[in-house]
Amino acid sequence: MGAEILVIGGGPAGLAAAEAASSHGRSVLVIDENPDFGGQIWRAERRRSSGRAKEMIDLLERNGVKLIPSCTCVAALPNKRILALSAGRTFPIAYDKVMIATGARERFIPFPGWTLPGVFGAGGLQALVKGGFDVAGKRIVIAGTGPLLLAVAEYLRKRGGDVQLIAERTSLRSLARLGIATLRIKGKVSEAIRLKRNLPRVPYRTSSIVTKAAGDNSLREISIRRRGKESTVKCDLLAIGYHLVPNTEVAGMLGCAVTNEVVLTDEFKRTTAEDVFCAGEPTGIGGLDLSLIEGKIAGLAASGILEEAELLFADALKYRTFANEMERAFRLKPEYLRGIATDDTIVCRCEDVRFGDVKDFGSFRDAKLQTRLGMGYCQGRVCGPACGALLGWDENNSIRPPIVPVTIGELAKFGNTGD
Ligand SMILES: Cc1cc2nc3c(=O)[nH]c(=O)nc-3n(C[C@H](O)[C@H](O)[C@H](O)COP(=O)(O)OP(=O)(O)OC[C@H]3O[C@@H](n4cnc5c(N)ncnc54)[C@H](O)[C@@H]3O)c2cc1C
Repeated sequence: MGAEILVIGGGPAGLAAAEAASSHGRSVLVIDENPDFGGQIWRAERRRSSGRAKEMIDLLERNGVKLIPSCTCVAALPNKRILALSAGRTFPIAYDKVMIATGARERFIPFPGWTLPGVFGAGGLQALVKGGFDVAGKRIVIAGTGPLLLAVAEYLRKRGGDVQLIAERTSLRSLARLGIATLRIKGKVSEAIRLKRNLPRVPYRTSSIVTKAAGDNSLREISIRRRGKESTVKCDLLAIGYHLVPNTEVAGMLGCAVTNEVVLTDEFKRTTAEDVFCAGEPTGIGGLDLSLIEGKIAGLAASGILEEAELLFADALKYRTFANEMERAFRLKPEYLRGIATDDTIVCRCEDVRFGDVKDFGSFRDAKLQTRLGMGYCQGRVCGPACGALLGWDENNSIRPPIVPVTIGELAKFGNTGD
């Protein structure tokens, strides 16, 4: 199996890349580990009869693009091939050029009680509700940091959730600076006004951080610290996430340079590895519009249509500049998080490793060598960024293939030679 251009990740960036390349006659294959294409934001739309994701996917099908859902890139193989995993079976996929569009995930910060039933990631709860989970009448607090909190609050409220409070970690001052940057981007101000209008009477508290979740078998109340003062709020659900972490594991495996959690690219979205492109959130959290523009640039560049790609640079720069402001506004510093995790707090949920077991190590790698931190199913995707933020560790550089668990029998089919 193979194609001229292999796209790994069928979110907005991957779909835009596939659209640009296939519209110029390239043979394109898109894989996504999820059963539905569309990425974090559009996934649920595919099941509906209309929507942007459906329009794009219909166009790709007309262009002859091969779309393989439930298919994960787990390792790089020699001779321009990756190892893919689908339904428990591995197989190689060959390419001339490969496009990494693997998106981002939420950043979780462990605190006492965060593993209680009723505590969810903000985007995680939104995804569950899109999948049918009923929040009607439930008292919900939304907390953490980042623009996703407002989008989730709006969504949960539309689904009947009783949103009690949004507790944002960042300060009013940082938000005000971001507000000024927002004025430079068409559509962002009206989006902010719409969100505010759709969330009437929902308090939005800045400089606030959840320090504890309590309950017997499920969540009953949370504690929030604001400017040194603790208060409690009774709630049934807590949706909490600290902005996003770029998914850079595939890029790292394919030999691309990754710095400060982002994949390095030039304006054409070429990475430092030959014939490997990367677009969307792995190159920095930037939102839907930027993912779409960068995906198109990357798709055109991978097809050799450089002049057309160049026409999009100015737009990409505008959105990237805004994204940098956003990154600055929502950046987490260890001092904000001091005392949030206690020695007993579980930091690695897969392997039940506690904060006290790892706090004296100087890096993720050291802790992983001495404890079972990051050794479970998620392979450090949750505890790596969490401990990095809590302890000021450098980025988690211990990602190794396969990036998700694969049986030894399946791996043995592809030894060092890849044959
Ligand atoms: C949990 C969550 C919820 C979000 N909700 C909203 C929202 O409500 N509103 C909003 O404006 N923005 C939201 N965002 C942000 C939004 O996703 C981005 O702004 C933008 O849409 C990202 O597009 P993308 O194509 O770069 O990445 P994504 O949309 O994340 O797409 C990446 C795709 O790559 C796939 N993938 C990852 N790794 C592999 C692999 N190894 N093999 C195969 N496939 C792989 C994933 O399954 C995914 O479909 C959310 C982000 C997250 C993480």
